[in-house]
Amino acid sequence: MVTSNTAVHIVSVDELRATVRSIFLASGCADDEATLIATQLVDANLAGHDSHGVVRVPQYVDWLRSGFVHAGRSIEVVSDGGAFLVLDGGLGLGQTVATQAVDLGIDRARRTGSCVVALRNAGHIGRVGWFAESAIRAGLVSVHFVNVAGSPLVAPFGGLDRRYSTAPFAAGVPLPGRPVVLDFATSYVAEGKVQVASYGGKPLPGDALIGQDGTPTGDPRVLYGDYRDDELRLTSGGTGAIRAFGEHKGSGLALMCELLAGALTGGPCAGPLDGERRGISNGMLSIYLSPEHLGTRAEFERIGLDYLDWVLSARPARPGEPVLAPGDPEGAVRARRLAEGIPLPIGTWEAIRRTAC
Ligand code: NAD
Repeated sequence: MVTSNTAVHIVSVDELRATVRSIFLASGCADDEATLIATQLVDANLAGHDSHGVVRVPQYVDWLRSGFVHAGRSIEVVSDGGAFLVLDGGLGLGQTVATQAVDLGIDRARRTGSCVVALRNAGHIGRVGWFAESAIRAGLVSVHFVNVAGSPLVAPFGGLDRRYSTAPFAAGVPLPGRPVVLDFATSYVAEGKVQVASYGGKPLPGDALIGQDGTPTGDPRVLYGDYRDDELRLTSGGTGAIRAFGEHKGSGLALMCELLAGALTGGPCAGPLDGERRGISNGMLSIYLSPEHLGTRAEFERIGLDYLDWVLSARPARPGEPVLAPGDPEGAVRARRLAEGIPLPIGTWEAIRRTAC
């Protein structure tokens, strides 16, 4: 069912998943792959991260059609040292090859206690928290450093020029009944949030971007240049940059994501660009740990839960806004959207429908 008001269409989860699945089937994906991509993209919307949900569909299809990413790819094992795996995604669709890599890491860590997985050359993997949640379901702690090769968009602390990607970091902790999932871009805002704002969705903070003259702004045109409503948003169109979050600290974490998920996996960093690239790829360095194998599971769960309760008992700085744990906001949005459907800006819904034609 689709209902509309002046700003958004409300789409049921089932209908949105079916629409996205049919688009990827028509774009050459097999049933399993189309279902996986639809499930993960719609889940990002369910978690409230519209920037990494179905708004990506036109771009993914464009990359498939132009041959930058490929349907039906399997990861190649470059090296397997037992405690670590180096994997090449071969520019397969990110949801597909990252899921294969994460499944391998989880399986290895469940058997041996830990595993480091270095994945390079994955298509865009979407919301990284999905993979931390997969590890949590397997009872594992996980840490993920991610970079976006070919996509320098973020100015380093003290600089004006694009040097880092939006380089997300995520970690998941499987406290029983109370999982904690931290998952964010190291840029002030994820690039997808700039896209969402450009389509009429949630506006950006007024200092999220920086123009070439050093002026902070929230105008998406700084990143994309001028665009019509029905045009793809191309970061090559603008001259400004996104700012790194957390001043020098966030800028430093972004550098670590580039070095670990890019250089250490054997994949590219955000740049410099070679002039040939037409899309982007993700690298991801993941660490999986089993509290069971560490022999500290009982303490981890008891002390961890007690500590988390104590953290959350801190008095709210703003009345009526209790302290939350990472992962709580996503849980709340998920419950609401599962019941009420997913609100999509009209521009996003129309772009998806045009892609389906
Ligand atoms: P964000 O700024 O919304 O931060 C999200 C994190 O902060 C979550 O862990 C959330 O639980 C936590 N959080 C939010 N409000 C909180 C509160 N009041 N109290 C406690 N914790 C709170 O996220 P973002 O930087 O906009 O990133 C959005 C998504 O973009 C992420 O899922 C990320 O993985 C994804 N991303 C992907 C790529 C890629 O190339 N694949 C690149 C960049 C970002």
